[in-house]
Amino acid sequence: MRLSRYFLPVLKETPADAQIVSHRLMLRAGMIRQQAAGIYSWLPLGYRVLRRIEQIVHEEQQRAGHIPLLMPTLQSAELWQKSGRYDAYGPEMLRITDRHGREMLYGPTNEEMITEIVGNYVTSYKALPLTLYHIQWKFRDEVRPRFGVMRGREFLMKDGYNFDLTREDALHAYNRHLVSYLRTYERMGLQAIPMRADSGPIGGDYTHEFLVLADTGESEVFYDSAITDLKFGDRQIDYDDHAQCQAVLEEFTSRYARTDETHDAAVFAEVPEERRRSARGIEVGQIFYFGTEYSEKLGAYVQAEDGGRVPLHMGSHGIGVSRLLGAIIEASHDENGIIWPEGVTPFQVGIVNLRQGDTETDAACDALYAGITALGLEPLYDDRDERAGGKFATMDLIGLPWRITVGPRGLKSGKVELTCRRTGESEELSPEAALARVKQIYAPHHVHLGHDLVEPMATRSFHTWM
Ligand code: ATP
Ligand code: MG
Repeated sequence: MRLSRYFLPVLKETPADAQIVSHRLMLRAGMIRQQAAGIYSWLPLGYRVLRRIEQIVHEEQQRAGHIPLLMPTLQSAELWQKSGRYDAYGPEMLRITDRHGREMLYGPTNEEMITEIVGNYVTSYKALPLTLYHIQWKFRDEVRPRFGVMRGREFLMKDGYNFDLTREDALHAYNRHLVSYLRTYERMGLQAIPMRADSGPIGGDYTHEFLVLADTGESEVFYDSAITDLKFGDRQIDYDDHAQCQAVLEEFTSRYARTDETHDAAVFAEVPEERRRSARGIEVGQIFYFGTEYSEKLGAYVQAEDGGRVPLHMGSHGIGVSRLLGAIIEASHDENGIIWPEGVTPFQVGIVNLRQGDTETDAACDALYAGITALGLEPLYDDRDERAGGKFATMDLIGLPWRITVGPRGLKSGKVELTCRRTGESEELSPEAALARVKQIYAPHHVHLGHDLVEPMATRSFHTWM
């Protein structure tokens, strides 16, 4: 993309009403625009990152064997009356009446609807196990929408639902989700720690929230610092293997890590003092096993092997897709702007032309642009007729992890400069060597080009990547 043809409305001033750094940076970098309290337009740069995050979620869900579908944003009140949540949800639910006087609502979540779907079509145990998910906009009329996309009213969520014959199978689905979430967040350059959360009236240990540590987080958390040494890395998991998933879950949940709702000072005191931490965290996901409650209320029963009719065991699992942009920026920025992890960056490489209009410099930039594109990556080329300082400031603000600077002086000795946004370190290299480095840097990351991001998942590229 050439910056001169792009739509990147960066702000010079720091927006006064944005309280936390990620909100300020998203506004300054021209990623979002507020349209009403807690409701945003996603401007091109923000939209790109949103789609990259979605793409990672799709790939990791499907790697775990989960099946995508798409349910509507509007739902009928009737479904929710059956589950008893229509009244229980209270003022957070946005209620709408259509022209025929039918009560509708903008979905805050989809347990009722998916249970109704599965209940209608699945009749035999042979169709199980089954996990369906979608990535869809939700609306919750939050009392205090704030912090930009972190606590919006309209927000994008991946919500998935498992349907199993037995409690044991449903617990495997729970474990499988925990494992696949670990991998999902790591691909986004995030450390999200599974913490024991409040399971509400259902009881038991079967809910974990995933938290990204950040001072601006809304949750208070307590943990054993040893947990931050754990990395999922590139381990290969067979998601059908119960024992393997169970082992990973145990590895990642055996250390003390709890939200304030489940915090137990006496148990925490057993953690060696030098490893005891209390901190703030941002909830970027939650997994849940809740048994047969919804199946019974909404009629999701199957015929078991012995011929009996049994309600399905269910769980639900959410990832805060739009909130993740804020969480990633909170975890990765400096005083000059955002620092995108390679996995989610809107463009992989920035090209800065120090003398726009100079034949040789322009030609070298064009050649790099073509070279980066040929690698299957997307460059953002600052080809504006602007001073170097302004170009660098924009690149730093929007946070592309790698920048190639091209100027007449360097070109005299056949060199361009490759700069790492995170460390600020630069290397003088030939354009060919710079391309080779870029290729090497992005080799572990699977990058989907913008134009195929419109598809939920391009099977072809997914397979080449696996
Ligand atoms: P919170 O406690 O932050 O209100 P929640 O526990 O009610 O969230 P879930 O129902 O678990 O939310 O939804 C799954 C995920 O969706 C959350 O982990 C979070 O990342 C995201 N999410 C929830 N509410 C919002 C919101 N208002 N704005 C943006 N993301 C949200
Ligand atoms: Mg939650």
